[in-house]
Amino acid sequence: MTENPPRIPSMNEILESCAERGLESYGREACRAACSRALDGLRARRKAGDRLSAVDEAFWSQVEAYLAVLPSIQLRGAINATGVVLHTNLGRAPWPQEAVEAAGAAANASLCEIDRHTGGRGRRDRPVSELLARVTGAEAGLPVNNNAATVLLAVSALARGRKVVVARKELVEIGGSYRMPEVIAAAGAEMVEIGTTNRVHLKDFEDAMEDPEVSLVLRIHPSNFRIQGFTKEPPMKEVAAMCHARGLPLVYDLGSGVLNGSELRGLELEHPVQASLADGCDLVTFSGDKLLGGPQAGLIVGAKPLVERLRRDMLTRCLRLDKTILAALEAVLSIHALGEEAACTRIPALQRLAMTQEQLRDRATAFAEVINKAGKTVKATVVDCAGRVGSGASPTEDLPSAGVLLTQDGLSAEQLVQRLRDAEPPTFARIQDEAVLLDLRTVAEHELEILQQLLSS
Ligand SMILES: *Cc1c(COP(=O)(O)O)cnc(C)c1O
Repeated sequence: MTENPPRIPSMNEILESCAERGLESYGREACRAACSRALDGLRARRKAGDRLSAVDEAFWSQVEAYLAVLPSIQLRGAINATGVVLHTNLGRAPWPQEAVEAAGAAANASLCEIDRHTGGRGRRDRPVSELLARVTGAEAGLPVNNNAATVLLAVSALARGRKVVVARKELVEIGGSYRMPEVIAAAGAEMVEIGTTNRVHLKDFEDAMEDPEVSLVLRIHPSNFRIQGFTKEPPMKEVAAMCHARGLPLVYDLGSGVLNGSELRGLELEHPVQASLADGCDLVTFSGDKLLGGPQAGLIVGAKPLVERLRRDMLTRCLRLDKTILAALEAVLSIHALGEEAACTRIPALQRLAMTQEQLRDRATAFAEVINKAGKTVKATVVDCAGRVGSGASPTEDLPSAGVLLTQDGLSAEQLVQRLRDAEPPTFARIQDEAVLLDLRTVAEHELEILQQLLSS
């Protein structure tokens, strides 16, 4: 007589044992996923003839080994309920699903640097470079690690050991100790500062270009600040014409990198990449994870001979992108190539920016109803609020938004906001009127339900 195989407990029973073993701090979903993987292994062993395989200590050490990796990763997903669309501390632009999948696929052996026809060596940036040129209408493109790197590279390749003309009112600090004067110095060039804090004239550019050691004119989008009042700067077109007459390249660090601009109707318009090229800028640089809506990257587009000079620079090798990021970028740019409507519906950052206050009020009303119906201690009230683009784009402008104010009996707003940060997934919100404000503009559709569960439990 053979012994009966031990009964396999139900998932609910197993999850209860998880709690008894103190594993619930990983969150119920993580425990369920780990137990389900361990159960798959157990069933496979039984099928292979090990009839005594059971939910025993070996099973639990496997569950713990699973929990020690993915659910324990500190750089993990979070919910952004701050209303700041490109929240730098929460990782800027959320990726489109296509980008996530493309990156995952490229993580394996991939067509990273190989020519599939000849089997010989290929160039890893070629697909993205070609798409960049296609979507911006530029002659050529080049992706590097981030936009900070594009400026370092451009100045190094075009002006190392020589001089760069730059207006004082454009000498920005971006944050994280990235300051233009220091970047130019690090690239080995000397700065020729022109104009004043508030004004710069065409004549200032003209005078500076007289210096024969000048080999580059650099202009920088003010991005994260605005100078108002008595200000002036010459139109980009006129500076470009002056540069071209003297054979000097004009590089424009655009920062946010809006592609067409019309997807941001209603917002104070960021200067689009295409318009900057049309104004005569020889190279335009922008970020991949700001208004392009993709992964961290620095994108350079413009005149082919200059792009090629940058590509050949030793720094380009130091600043190159990982294959997974290149695949994600290729996906994001492919969506942009389908046109603005596709971009606004399929790229989360743009889709979130395009949501109207009316749409968000409806969202908030439905959300609050679920919370209040659950009859738990958390109460939700629908409110209008003001979000932001974030990451230095349109810095002085509010995004009219809507969300819910949460209160919980016996908890202060500070305690409740802390409870949300400690939750799984960690959720980031703001405090307003002594309550916790969830701005629903930046919450993804599938996250609404997760939040509702979190708040009703
Ligand atoms: C954001 C920004 C940068 C830095 O870009 P990263 O992609 O964060 O490196 C540089 N210049 C300007 C004008 C910016 O707005």
